[in-house]
Amino acid sequence: MKEDILLAEEAEPPSPQLLHQVSGQTLYNLPFFAENPQTAAFRKQFYPKISTAQWNDWRWQLRNRITQASQLERIIRLSDDERAAILGERGLPLSITPYYASLLDARDPAQPIRRTVVPTCGEHLRSPGEQQDPLGEESHSPVPGLVHRYPDRVLFLVTDFCSNYCRYCTRSRLVGKTCQQRFNMTQWKKAIAYIAATPAIRDVLLSGGDPLTLPDDKLEWLLSQLRQIPHVEMVRIGTKVPVVLPQRITPDLVAMLRRFHPLWMSIHFTHPAELTPETTQALERLADAGIPLGSQTVLLAGINDSVPTMTALYQGLVRRRVKPYYLYQCDPILGSAHFRTPVARGLEIYQGLRGHTTGYAVPTYVIDAPGGGGKIPLLPETVMGRDGSDLLLKNYEGRIFRYPDVIPAAGPACN
Ligand code: SF4
Repeated sequence: MKEDILLAEEAEPPSPQLLHQVSGQTLYNLPFFAENPQTAAFRKQFYPKISTAQWNDWRWQLRNRITQASQLERIIRLSDDERAAILGERGLPLSITPYYASLLDARDPAQPIRRTVVPTCGEHLRSPGEQQDPLGEESHSPVPGLVHRYPDRVLFLVTDFCSNYCRYCTRSRLVGKTCQQRFNMTQWKKAIAYIAATPAIRDVLLSGGDPLTLPDDKLEWLLSQLRQIPHVEMVRIGTKVPVVLPQRITPDLVAMLRRFHPLWMSIHFTHPAELTPETTQALERLADAGIPLGSQTVLLAGINDSVPTMTALYQGLVRRRVKPYYLYQCDPILGSAHFRTPVARGLEIYQGLRGHTTGYAVPTYVIDAPGGGGKIPLLPETVMGRDGSDLLLKNYEGRIFRYPDVIPAAGPACN
């Protein structure tokens, strides 16, 4: 009898629809998100008339973004510095999804994730070396919205819109400043034509703004156009949506994305406080769809610049099938001095990770070289010198080891 059941089950594996019906066993196909207790309490207090279905609708989250001081003040107690920054001359526009706002500490302006989305007057200060476009993207742009800096890959900026505006955004010159001239179908077609006419391009990174804030049909159109170009081997999407708007990662979106493999995703994480049940569920859906997930994190003073914080973030990501990919030194955009750390701090953190935790949890620490030099990896000094032909290497405990290096022969090996 038992065998009959097994055979019957094997003959007809459970369909996604069936998985839907046996809720509780899997989160993959559920239309809603498991709400973390803090967010549930927040919704009850500030959005009491909003149903679970509305809260889990990413379009509702976008329509109800917090963009004004008066809206933010209803939710958190603004410090004098924050209030002056929002109401005075503004560097970046303000935008926070209700979901992400639910994670903010209402009373503590120094809370790490609050600092990433609530402006302070530090943004109005200008320091030596800061620039509006520190990476020189505009000067490597063959057509509007496309950056072609490396030989075999391009950065395709498809929108200037993000659901949340990060205070340290490298593209603050674009994000939130709606300029329909740049981000429309005409511009997309020109960028796609350039990619199609350039056989060296095998890798396209969709970014912005945040590509996952586009509706499914527009994203599908973009991906299908790129997939029709034979020399485009892979497409990547750079996004913060799974972190700030996890409700966007719907079963329909995931079903569409998986049709365009090999499709990779680089997700912008900042702090372990972002690893909520909602974000975990979004990552689970993406990973189950076979999308390789990587994380990109900007090193930010007083926010994530400590070994315990980074260890918690990276180990948490690996548990969720996300490979920490890059740790970025913060770009010198205008008004960024209060976010930037010395490079030595980043190297200390790197040393505090390397060898102390699994290698998969250690990203590459890079500086995106100002002026368009591309990413340059930063490594702590591990090569201590030579003793004869031996290379002297320092490990993570500070102990010295010898590696018998190969010295090239003086003449040809064979005559
Ligand atoms: S998600 Fe990225 S592009 Fe959008 S505001 Fe943040 S840093 Fe800028």
